[in-house]
Amino acid sequence: MSHDLSTLTRAVRAGIATDREHGAVAPPIHLTSTFAFDAFGKPRTFDYTRSGNPTRAQLATAIAELEHGAGAVVTSTGMSAVALVLSLVKPGETVVAAHDCYGGTQRLLRALAARGHFRLEFVDLAAGSRGTSLERSDGARLVWIETPSNPLLRITDITRICAAAHDAGALAVVDNTFLSPALQQPLALGADIVVHSTTKYLNGHSDVVGGAVVSRDAAIHEELAWWANCLGVTGAPFDSYLTLRGIRTLFPRIKQHEANAAAVVEALVKHPAVRKVFYPGLATHPGHEVAKAQQAGFGAMVSFEVAGGLRGVELLTNALRCFTLAESLGGVESLVAHPASMTHASMTAEARATAGISESLVRLSVGIEDPADLVHDLTSALNAADAGNRKTDGGVRARHEGARTPGAGAGSRGVAIDTREPQSHRRSVVLLGLGAIGRELLTQVSEFGNGLSVAAAIDRSGWVYRPGGFDAESAGVLCEHKARGGRVADAEHAVSGSADAALVAIGGEGLWRPILVDATAADTVQLLHGAVSNGWDLVLANKAPLAGSAAAWDRLHRTARRHGRRILHEATVGAGLPVIDTLRKLRDAGDEILSIEGCPSGTLGYVFGELGRGRPFSDAVRSAVAAGYAEPDPRADLSGLDVARKALILARLIGFKGDLRNIAVETLVPRDLRDVSRDEFLERLGDVDDSWRRRVDETRSRGAVLRYRMRATRTSVSVGLVEVAASDPLGSLQGTDNQFAFATGRYREHPLVIRGPGAGPAVTAAGVLNDLLSLAAENRHWSLPAALPRASGASSGARPAGAEAGARTRRQAAGP
Ligand code: PLP
Repeated sequence: MSHDLSTLTRAVRAGIATDREHGAVAPPIHLTSTFAFDAFGKPRTFDYTRSGNPTRAQLATAIAELEHGAGAVVTSTGMSAVALVLSLVKPGETVVAAHDCYGGTQRLLRALAARGHFRLEFVDLAAGSRGTSLERSDGARLVWIETPSNPLLRITDITRICAAAHDAGALAVVDNTFLSPALQQPLALGADIVVHSTTKYLNGHSDVVGGAVVSRDAAIHEELAWWANCLGVTGAPFDSYLTLRGIRTLFPRIKQHEANAAAVVEALVKHPAVRKVFYPGLATHPGHEVAKAQQAGFGAMVSFEVAGGLRGVELLTNALRCFTLAESLGGVESLVAHPASMTHASMTAEARATAGISESLVRLSVGIEDPADLVHDLTSALNAADAGNRKTDGGVRARHEGARTPGAGAGSRGVAIDTREPQSHRRSVVLLGLGAIGRELLTQVSEFGNGLSVAAAIDRSGWVYRPGGFDAESAGVLCEHKARGGRVADAEHAVSGSADAALVAIGGEGLWRPILVDATAADTVQLLHGAVSNGWDLVLANKAPLAGSAAAWDRLHRTARRHGRRILHEATVGAGLPVIDTLRKLRDAGDEILSIEGCPSGTLGYVFGELGRGRPFSDAVRSAVAAGYAEPDPRADLSGLDVARKALILARLIGFKGDLRNIAVETLVPRDLRDVSRDEFLERLGDVDDSWRRRVDETRSRGAVLRYRMRATRTSVSVGLVEVAASDPLGSLQGTDNQFAFATGRYREHPLVIRGPGAGPAVTAAGVLNDLLSLAAENRHWSLPAALPRASGASSGARPAGAEAGARTRRQAAGP
């Protein structure tokens, strides 16, 4: 095709009138897996469709021309295009990727890095982020850019980052899915490779999944084409045919998409139920200037935060008629998605929070329908959401509106849309269980509940609800009443009833982002399930629900994910230790957890420490009970059951699929004391003192000490007594401390050992409080404005959420 044709004309005419046999104007489709040879030893141009196919070749030529590349490989999906590019990287080399790139790309990068395919760093590449530096990236081979990013439409300066990548000796790859070559041509800006999910704008009709990789350099293209055939990731002829047909209308579609997006954004910035709008076309968008310089338009992806949190999202999406609730984007029809529970659900909640993806964020793929219909539909649905919010949250809404920036009028594109939740808002905690841990927690939160307040306390008998939250005095009164053996139902202002009834009643009070803390020891999984389904976040001190059946556990977590709710349970595994946090961070940094070993029982740690000092076994157990270290019945500790539960909770976090019955547990409870009362058990425990004494002495004569250890891998969990050398980290464990050793892809030879205090209601409650504070802190992060200080000069002094998020991601990505 002649070089003086515009890209618009090339897109329309791609493959047209190329049929030599019949002169078909629309090119024929070659649905064949294989091709006849001309003669023996004489293959034709194509021999087998995995390696090459005429229909796919026409599409590849069209895409390469649109992107001005040396060649394109057409793949079966966008993800296979991503995977294909990653086949260029060798073990030991580094991939540096935007921390907010597509969730599926992140998942693949992390999974491959965890297998040792390459090293991985996530960095904040966006324009406006504080000094993007690639010089730390040793052995960088690829820098992965995605701009605008999904779903916050952050903009990366392609020219700047490609130059930095080249300085570091790396290839620069740009995922150009969100704009298509009609609006952005990364190769012309310095990129080496462009990736597309052709599923989106290139095909444009939501009836194909496909991908493409375009290279600037012919040698790289050849290498990728070789790998595509080798791996078998090439696209199907029928899909190629449809995509080629879609490309013919790319330019006029994009024009209409853009005009509609502008109308939609204008309506959004005006609407009182919208808290923030993310669109590079807004002058206040931090990447606006860069977008203007490197893009031919601002695209048709728009994100915004709706007031009312998840409930607001639900009300809005239920009321929309012209925006279909679905994943994906770039089709002629308008779509709406909720990134936290849909497109970005594969990211951890922490990673989402770091990337600034809140649960009130909604993403629109604006289609090419009549813009008046789209605006009308969106405005009506926002009105409906607003009305629904007022019903459930009247007072809060009124305060919001007072906080809104005035003058957000139609013409004021780029108005600072800063109608965030008041910072003074405290998250409401509802406490289930007022045993020693519950009471301790109530006391701690009422004294130190930065950003939190306990709104209600529930026990088996009933509940007390205090709209303003418990203060130190009212908490003290209730705790004393419970400590004396009283029932909550008999306390002042209490209501009697079941915990289920309590949650329904308290849930109807319109609490702001409520958190349910389970500090019981009961099997509460049904109750918790109901709570997450109804919008509660959960913090568990109770191990029973997490160590219950695998099916119940899976269901609880699936429900939480579906509803965008969090379940934190740091205090269930080694009180006060940031074990689960460490586990998540290792994984977020791309590491693979191979095994976890440890002594997670404060009671048993204490008992074996005392035994080593020559104290009788019975005496050690009784003093652990007296000090409040042990479970209410110390046999739960000595039977290994408590350790087994902790082991199971950790094992499941690393992929173990079994139940408690799949765990080999060694019990230390003498056979004839298993069925007697607790008091009789404690009294008769002296019977085993002599045999423990002998065992301890024998172990010591071998230069070793006894420890009660758990070991968890993805496939097996065991719990029992071991002898370890006194010099071993486990051997030096003191008192009620807990210890965990993580063997990971990176810490294979020398496991990462962490140790900290365990046991006792005060420390366990502190672990719960830690989880609560991290939920409250997430909330503060969640409400930061996403825009840079206003370009107009009316600086708010606020830092962009993204910049802060990026700093955190860099720390995590660097690994511990
Ligand atoms: N890149 C981006 C930016 C995407 O949004 C997507 C999918 O949503 C992909 C890649 C993966 O594409 P596919 O779903 O076609 O595999």
